[in-house]
Amino acid sequence: MATTSEQEGSKWNTVHFNGPFPTRILYKTTLEPDSKLPSKIDRFNDVAKEIQRLLKETTDANEGFRAFGARWSMNNVAHHKDRMHFNENMNIKKSISNDEMHPNSSFKKEDLFLIECGNKIKEITEFIKREGKSLKTCGASNGQTIAGAISTGVHGSALNVGSVQDFVVGINLIIGPDKNDIIYLERQNEPALSDQFALSINARVIRNDALFNAALVGLGGFGFIHGVVIETEDLYLLNRYVRKINKSVALDLAVTMNFKDSEFKIDAEVDANGKPSNPYHYKIFINPYNDNADYVVEAMYKKKFRTDYPDPIPRIQTALYKDLIVLFGKIAAQHKNNIPRLIKLLEKDILPSVD
Ligand SMILES: Cc1cc2nc3c(=O)[nH]c(=O)nc-3n(C[C@H](O)[C@H](O)[C@H](O)COP(=O)(O)OP(=O)(O)OC[C@H]3O[C@@H](n4cnc5c(N)ncnc54)[C@H](O)[C@@H]3O)c2cc1C
Repeated sequence: MATTSEQEGSKWNTVHFNGPFPTRILYKTTLEPDSKLPSKIDRFNDVAKEIQRLLKETTDANEGFRAFGARWSMNNVAHHKDRMHFNENMNIKKSISNDEMHPNSSFKKEDLFLIECGNKIKEITEFIKREGKSLKTCGASNGQTIAGAISTGVHGSALNVGSVQDFVVGINLIIGPDKNDIIYLERQNEPALSDQFALSINARVIRNDALFNAALVGLGGFGFIHGVVIETEDLYLLNRYVRKINKSVALDLAVTMNFKDSEFKIDAEVDANGKPSNPYHYKIFINPYNDNADYVVEAMYKKKFRTDYPDPIPRIQTALYKDLIVLFGKIAAQHKNNIPRLIKLLEKDILPSVD
């Protein structure tokens, strides 16, 4: 049986420390171990029962309840003063079997996965990569949970793809403590999984676009999202380029997306007629403190996966953001005489407080 730890009279905070915010009870539910309950669906149903028990306890006390994920939201959107539930340990993920597919589904079975709410985006990426699949889009930092990410509509980093919630094709909600309160929700005309699947997770099926869209980006206010069904695609590679281009060309492209007729051209990224191809990702870095005629832009082009691609790690090490400590070290090295003053200023943040 899944178990829940409870902290009474707690203080809850975001990762960025916007709080603390008082909350009466903090719950954290942990799945029954695989060794005791090997079937993923059995473990999924077992923990659903536990969430329903918590909801009953909460409604009996006439209090409010809110789920939260990695606490990465930049404000207190996830906060509730009564009871809050931390989903991190609810991280079942599974591929879909033939009999779980809806007979009229236009999705490919291999592309679909059932993902429990507490799975982090990075965890999902690693799991589906082993099945030869990629997420359609994600962000640069991928520590948010799937339920938190879709609930706030984040990470639209690929052109013409949308954000994380746009690759969700089914939602499993727990809206209360009773038998009928477990729901499997899909869009009306885009069925993915069968009614038999819904039955296996003790859910009643609703296929309705308006309800689906409302629950999808629900800001935590549309029931407990227990799991989602996501559509993935075949593994792909991204060729990345960073170039300086004229400011107005860069901004114009961001508005029109007309790469084909643009003077921004990368010789290796052209179509059969020699015209610039459309990138999968396009980003402008704007430094408001200089008057240069150019902006730095980053463009990524999607390629079919192959195994003999160049190792990206040495490049990534020089290309991506450094964490703050590394950056701080670099700045300090260039301003040697200021190190004691900097240390003094940051003393409270970098040294542990004495007990
Ligand atoms: C380092 C960093 C980088 C970021 N980069 C980007 C970026 O590039 N682009 C971007 O768009 N955003 C970005 N964000 C914002 C972040 O992606 C979002 O705030 C996201 O919602 C965080 O997910 P979470 O799991 O932390 O959710 P939380 O912050 O914990 O919760 C968010 C909302 O989801 C609800 N929720 C969570 N789980 C459930 C559930 N099981 N059922 C019902 N509701 C639930 C909560 O109640 C809350 O309303 C970044 C944040 C950080 C800290």
